[in-house]
Amino acid sequence: KFARFSSTSANIITSDFKDVEIPKKTIHQFFYDEITNYTNFTAVECAVTGRKYTYGQIRQKCRNLSKNVRKKLKLKQNDVVAILLPNIPEYPIAVLGLMESGILVTSLNPIYTSEEIARQMKDANVKAVITTIESVQIVKAANALNKINLPVIAVQTQSGQTCPPETIKFDEMVDVEVDMPDIVIDNVHDTAFLPYSSGTTGLPKGVDLSHYNIVGNIKQTTSKEMKFLTHATESYQDCMPAVLPFFHIYGFTITLLQGLVHGAKLVTLPKFTPELYTDVLKKNKITLIIAAPPLVLFLSAHPLVKKEYMANLKAVMSGAAPLGASDEERFLEKVGGNVEISQGYGLTETSPVVSMISQQLKDKFNCTGSIGGPIPNTQMKLVAIDDATGTPLGPNQQGELFVKGPQVMKGYFNKPKETEEVFQDGWFKTGDLMYYNEDNLFFVTDRLKELIKVKGFQVAPAELEEILRSVPNVSDAAVIGIPHPLSGEVPRAYIVPKPNAKLNEEEIKATVAERVAPYKQLKGGIEIVAAIPKNATGKILRRQLKLEYLEKNA
Ligand code: AMP
Repeated sequence: KFARFSSTSANIITSDFKDVEIPKKTIHQFFYDEITNYTNFTAVECAVTGRKYTYGQIRQKCRNLSKNVRKKLKLKQNDVVAILLPNIPEYPIAVLGLMESGILVTSLNPIYTSEEIARQMKDANVKAVITTIESVQIVKAANALNKINLPVIAVQTQSGQTCPPETIKFDEMVDVEVDMPDIVIDNVHDTAFLPYSSGTTGLPKGVDLSHYNIVGNIKQTTSKEMKFLTHATESYQDCMPAVLPFFHIYGFTITLLQGLVHGAKLVTLPKFTPELYTDVLKKNKITLIIAAPPLVLFLSAHPLVKKEYMANLKAVMSGAAPLGASDEERFLEKVGGNVEISQGYGLTETSPVVSMISQQLKDKFNCTGSIGGPIPNTQMKLVAIDDATGTPLGPNQQGELFVKGPQVMKGYFNKPKETEEVFQDGWFKTGDLMYYNEDNLFFVTDRLKELIKVKGFQVAPAELEEILRSVPNVSDAAVIGIPHPLSGEVPRAYIVPKPNAKLNEEEIKATVAERVAPYKQLKGGIEIVAAIPKNATGKILRRQLKLEYLEKNA
């Protein structure tokens, strides 16, 4: 039987696509070098206000920002700056302009509470923040929690807005030219981007991604066999709606950067509403859609979405969660075939893409429910739970996925112990359980790590448990993810009251609601229990709680 993927040694699965060469360039330099022919093409346009920038304007604004943050804010190479922005046309300017000065960028979810913002800013030792005028107050509240007064640069997103006092105007940082020498970053293994992920266990941590990691993943996912983006020409430009959040690695690498290095036009949506998304489809000749499964379902089923809006669509890429075969068929029926659908699997820790199902793969095999096989330059192996030797398993046996490749993070930022725990002999341990079949196609079966994913967003049980334990009458708490038809998973809490104390469920829910973003709420309910199951070292046995829940509710 023809096996798609070859193995370098027994049961280590490698891509049978040829390795790609990864340029030894920083992210911003790679971008600047790729866009020289697109100076007058529109790069980004806001779906709400129509505010837009050409590639040439982005280049100039990045240069100015890079110099102004050094000159006016005295920021230095290796300082960290936080970006708390929705998907708006200024996002790439903020990111690439900072990187041009060797500044590390950490990205935050714009719907975070001040407490969530404060935690990340403190952990990453942030020196300044770029946000919208709307979010200045919340950033200031986060600064107050950390007892620090960091500079806040504010982007005006609508006309007529005034910049709050003691806030620096983004426009002044990107439009005023100053005389400062350029900075040359010659080590592509330097840290560039610090998105946050809780990984296998504990609180969210900075994921230390280098220029090489991200440029690598862009090249790996656009190799000759996998690519669906076309470099822009005078007569052709790819166009895509950009709704997957840029603060998350999937939106960052696969929509924002990958789109821009090809000279595509990105129509940015600061938030998703069916009306706004449909409006973008209607007004633009959309050629590509980067999606998560709920968006594919929306496109197939929503009455506002008309077939003719997708007349120019060439390809859809779905990732972050499995897309069912029937969902795919329904989508193809709606658009009338002739659209390539590929699927991918990845993590923040891998910049993000590890594996993909390409159209070619689908033409040869039944890929239903699969996440495909390794992209170029990537090795995958499965290891039995608790097998410290790392011996790779053969086909049809469930094990934890270990990955090797240029996209694997350097480690968790300033956390050597946590980093050591997720690496074994140079392999990164994903915390995902899978098997692969005789065609070397991988199938996700379960998650070994405690991470909960709600609509694709990360929820760290440890974060919610810490909040729950701070409620006066609570003695102990555990949080798990349970399946949910629309959100994928939702958090559910188990709570042990203090002796003789009465617990008010509504009060507990309200405390959580106040302190974390809406998607982290305890939508899976609260159960009062006598004790939390733990192992001998005091670790919460979350998998046991989950299995018990699933058994009871089967
Ligand atoms: P994040 O770091 O937020 O991107 O989350 C990564 C996690 O999302 C992975 O470790 C998986 O548990 C899950 N995930 C990502 N892609 C897929 C997929 N295609 N199918 C199933 N789970 C996925």
